[in-house]
Amino acid sequence: MQLHERILELSLSRSFFFPANEPYNPSAGFYEYGPVGVLIKHRIEELWRNTFTKSDGFYEVETSIVTPEPILIASGHVGSFADPVIECQKCKTRIRADTLVEEVHLSKHGERWDGKLESLDRIVEEQKIGCPRCKGELGKTFMFNLMFKTGIGGEQSPAYNRPETAQGIFTAFPRLYKNHGQKLPMAIGQVGRSFRNEISPRQGLVRMREFTQMELEYFFDPGDTKYPGFQEIANEKIKLKVNGQVIAATAGETVEKKYSPNEIMSYFLVRQWEFYRKIGINEEKMHLRVLDLAEVPHYSKGNIDMEIETSFGWIETIGNAYRTDYDLSSHAKQSGKDMSVFFNERKLVPHVVEVSMGVDRLFLALLEHCYREKTEGKDWEWFDFPPVIAPYQVAVFPLMKKDGLAEKAREITEMLRNSGLDVTYRESGSIGRRYARADEIGVPYALTIDHDTLNDNTITIRYRNDGKQERIAIHEIEKTIRENVKKGRVTL
Ligand SMILES: [Zn+2]
Repeated sequence: MQLHERILELSLSRSFFFPANEPYNPSAGFYEYGPVGVLIKHRIEELWRNTFTKSDGFYEVETSIVTPEPILIASGHVGSFADPVIECQKCKTRIRADTLVEEVHLSKHGERWDGKLESLDRIVEEQKIGCPRCKGELGKTFMFNLMFKTGIGGEQSPAYNRPETAQGIFTAFPRLYKNHGQKLPMAIGQVGRSFRNEISPRQGLVRMREFTQMELEYFFDPGDTKYPGFQEIANEKIKLKVNGQVIAATAGETVEKKYSPNEIMSYFLVRQWEFYRKIGINEEKMHLRVLDLAEVPHYSKGNIDMEIETSFGWIETIGNAYRTDYDLSSHAKQSGKDMSVFFNERKLVPHVVEVSMGVDRLFLALLEHCYREKTEGKDWEWFDFPPVIAPYQVAVFPLMKKDGLAEKAREITEMLRNSGLDVTYRESGSIGRRYARADEIGVPYALTIDHDTLNDNTITIRYRNDGKQERIAIHEIEKTIRENVKKGRVTL
């Protein structure tokens, strides 16, 4: 069994995630987070806020999902956010034409699609490619826009569910600039749902039609691409993939050797590298790929993607892009409103470096990287989540229900919950079984309340990774847990 198949099974049974609308023969590409998964997802988002907005004094907004058409004309999505599609004449199945042609024909010759619809039609005809479902004849390829269309108050005002959270930040920028100091640089982040109507999504959380993004737009004066305090991180090392070769480089070198367009992007590369390591992504299975000029949009002055290795192969999980003034200038043109600012005694349109991260793919990679098989000491599969993203920081178990142990354990649970910790409580089943259940969802510490607790006010704390235990006083529990979480300590 492939790792992702096992992860899917565990996700379904342990409430990490599951397909949406299960009783209704669900459509592919929609997943829901269960009670355990949603806690981890929220921790990832909170850690992102701390790392990418709060720590640098940046701002966060929450803008509309339903977006009027003119905005997405300006951003280019109405015109070109599309995939080539082919329809079976017989069973009417729609298929991604480029994927089909690459899988059936091109990849056998080590080739990729050249981007022309005619080439797809020609190859389908020459190679007699039929419908993968019913072998029926395929029609002509056409471009299919990937946005979910709707109308505001009716069809006369077309709109779409946003394909990215970024556009709401661009349209809010003039007001935010005015309200928050009228100075550059200025950075604005957003966490929220975006939509992409994939033709035939596969690979679970890797290709979703509705997904969560964490995006940051850093607005700056194009005459000043220095990052304040860059020297402090200039010697931090990251791994880059340049022209197919993976190399180690310091942040400073990424700027000197022009792998990155400027200090600003290099600064964020270092931050995302740290962020990924902190939440439990295996450093051996990640790199930042510098895109070739042929791969980047015409307005871009540099793109670097974070890629992570999973059992689906290497997947892109972060896009870093130097978008210049493309977005603000396009919105100025489309709306007729001035999007420039007055800064350092001149009028200018700020440039933007964007850091765009997906939560769901990252979540999936995290499950794979933290998954641990049964070993001699542990007869169950478990997750080695760093305490900072574990669904619960601590589990509380009375050794048995009787003799007042359950009452004492509930009292301790309430005390810890009131102090702001996330606690899971369980009082039935053997203690070994309860430890196993906690390990299986990656809870780093378990507390046991026994008869001694009632006499001397101490409890046993058990560490997830080595199963070792120590005795601590009840009044020290909160402090001990918080220190352990901070240090990432999961063994005695
Ligand atoms: Zn068919």
